[in-house]
Amino acid sequence: MSDHSGCPANLAAPPSSRSPVPGSPVWIGLDLGGTTIQSGLVDNHGSVVLQRIIPTPVPGGVGAVLGSLQDLARALRSEAEARGLVPVGLGLGTPGAVDPQTGRILGAAPNLPDWVGTEVRQPLEMVAELPVIVDNDANMAALGEGAFGAGAGCRHFVCLTLGTGIGAGVVVDGRLVRGAGFAAGEAGHMIVHEGGDRCECGSQGCLEAHASAGALIRKAESSINRFAQGPLGNLLIRGSLGAKEIFEVAQQGDPLASELVQEVTVHAGIASIVSLLDPERVILAGGMAGAGQQFIQTVAAAAARRLMPVFARRLTVVGGQLGRWAGVAGAVAALPLDRFRGQE
Ligand SMILES: [Zn+2]
Repeated sequence: MSDHSGCPANLAAPPSSRSPVPGSPVWIGLDLGGTTIQSGLVDNHGSVVLQRIIPTPVPGGVGAVLGSLQDLARALRSEAEARGLVPVGLGLGTPGAVDPQTGRILGAAPNLPDWVGTEVRQPLEMVAELPVIVDNDANMAALGEGAFGAGAGCRHFVCLTLGTGIGAGVVVDGRLVRGAGFAAGEAGHMIVHEGGDRCECGSQGCLEAHASAGALIRKAESSINRFAQGPLGNLLIRGSLGAKEIFEVAQQGDPLASELVQEVTVHAGIASIVSLLDPERVILAGGMAGAGQQFIQTVAAAAARRLMPVFARRLTVVGGQLGRWAGVAGAVAALPLDRFRGQE
């Protein structure tokens, strides 16, 4: 540990799964995605002691999604009580900009277009009978990693979520940066290639259009004529052409996969973020970070080459430690016991 910061040089071990003893507090964590809702009971060490994953009922619209969240909240509360645990709060991470005070969804949520404008907090409070906080999913993941994972002890870090899209939770001096309209951290829409690929937001050259898992898969699919006979073609036929698989094939030396992976410009986004915020650590989370240590090291080295020495000397780029459960574990940090104990 350095004298100017609590950000440890080596990462602590991630939370291990253990069963909390009866009477222990637990949090209900819900993480709404475009494909699945991940949820669970989380203890005060950040361990997800009970996990539930269901498909997101997107075709059913807002009513069905809200109903599923309420069902999970109710079921997890019952599970906690059946184990003699004491549910103390509920945290929901959702795509889009969110006012955490009201739980109102303010900004775009891809795959869930009708979600904007929905008041989410009160319907969840009604069924869970607990204090509820609703926040952006990347913010919740940053809170989880900050409390229990790769950001533990760091006062300045950015947690980049690399999945179908790209989001970021930005922590400066120990606090989440939310912005004037609760939309800070939309790192996926920083312009990294002027005149570059079109992005779903309507702009061109966004980081998300060039560096997300979604972008990588789209580029691979559009190269179908070139790889029909190779390992990528085999993956496509089997229906398993994902970002992780493309990275694996690249590591095995396939030239086309290597070419595609080299076009993933995550480092450009990191270099811009670091130049603006000077964080101690950049945490790569989300599905694409699961591509492994080699991916993370490559990205870190490429970012360092583009940074001024004052940043490059000190910056560390690491993988998230909580994997896909960071957002669920974030419920504990979003609703710390001391925050509402006095209200009981
Ligand atoms: Zn964009």
